Amino acid sequence: MLLRECLLSLLAAVRRRVEIPAEKERPQDANFIAWSALLADTLCPGKSNKEMRQYLKGTAEDTWQLVNWLTHTRSATKTAATISAQACDTLVGHFISLVERERLDPTGEKCPICNSRDVRSHFDPAIAPDGDYYLTCGVCDWSSHPGTPDDDEEEENDAEEDAGDKV
Ligand SMILES: [Zn+2]
Repeated sequence: MLLRECLLSLLAAVRRRVEIPAEKERPQDANFIAWSALLADTLCPGKSNKEMRQYLKGTAEDTWQLVNWLTHTRSATKTAATISAQACDTLVGHFISLVERERLDPTGEKCPICNSRDVRSHFDPAIAPDGDYYLTCGVCDWSSHPGTPDDDEEEENDAEEDAGDKV
């Protein structure tokens, strides 16, 4: 049951990060197999990606069917549950690799301030809506971090204190 939810959450998270061509028909939200196929088509387009695309679709479908079987069967063992959890881990890892591939396959990212190639990637789970990567420069102080709600709160508190001083 949890694994099913995990896979549906994975789809929802990937969908927020992938631009689906407007002319493509969108499957129903809960149609995991159709959605993962559409995402595989979008993330791995073209002839050169055929094997990757097929592997991804096949793995997504197999994982979904395995997890659904596990959810409904009365004969599941601990081993079957462990293998199903591992299968979900693997699929989540594949989609993360594809969505974040710009970071894994560097395209010569440069600092926009000082042009240094010493640009590093970090992850901050506090960036809305579900955490995101940001870059910093190892030479100057540049950072692409959008700021967190905590920072805003601090500023607001400072402003309140200032107002208090005046009164
Ligand atoms: Zn820099």
